[in-house]
Amino acid sequence: MFGVVPKVLWEKVKPADELNRVAMDMNCLLIRDGEHVVLVETGAGPKLSDKQKRNFGVDGPPRLLAELAARGVRPDEVTLVINTHLHFDHAGGNTFRDDEKVRATFPRASYVFQRLEWLDAISPNERTRGSYLPDDFAPLEAAGRLELIDEAVEILPGIRLDRIQGHTRGTQTVRVSDGRDTLFFSSDFMPDRHHLPLPWIPSQDLFPLDTLAAKKVILPRAIQEKWLVAFTHDVPRFGRITEEEGRYRFTEVE
Ligand SMILES: [Zn+2]
Repeated sequence: MFGVVPKVLWEKVKPADELNRVAMDMNCLLIRDGEHVVLVETGAGPKLSDKQKRNFGVDGPPRLLAELAARGVRPDEVTLVINTHLHFDHAGGNTFRDDEKVRATFPRASYVFQRLEWLDAISPNERTRGSYLPDDFAPLEAAGRLELIDEAVEILPGIRLDRIQGHTRGTQTVRVSDGRDTLFFSSDFMPDRHHLPLPWIPSQDLFPLDTLAAKKVILPRAIQEKWLVAFTHDVPRFGRITEEEGRYRFTEVE
């Protein structure tokens, strides 16, 4: 998870288990404005085999639909699904297996992601293949539910998607603004708060130096504009970033 950072440093903030694994959450974001029901990420979803769950250490059943129901949201009420990228731990809940067929979990939603991410997901290489499971996204094209975008797009009023090459070519972050406050959903650009120090970059990133360059631009802006920051793979889920004596700090916001 921390690339070139030695374990003696990272295990102080993120202890590993006996298999050298660290605990990561899979967070999804629900955005409602009275008209649109927008879901960012769908988690690992219900289609993983027992072997995949074992290999990836996915514990417990998916909770997304129950969490949505607890907030009064039925799957057919979701109008837009945003995947920051198409890795299985972000897009697995896009679809479900219904007997022989794989169907969209959110039947009336458009599913939006970057065109470059789509292209890389449907033609993976030897290094990237293990992260992309075609059943998470290919059936959406057949069902006519895809909305591919390029670069920076305001997909709905106040919801901005920005391609940030680093984790993959087509990873995008999400910014939600009501005109006063901005929420920044980091995606795997910075999976958790321990990725605030500039060199702490996951070895999964395909373009780590691009991640580094983007952090140098985005972190100062997040501080200056007092963004509320949400990490994809972390608990606590929301907080603000400050800089003290050259170090970035994260303070949880309830
Ligand atoms: Zn991820």
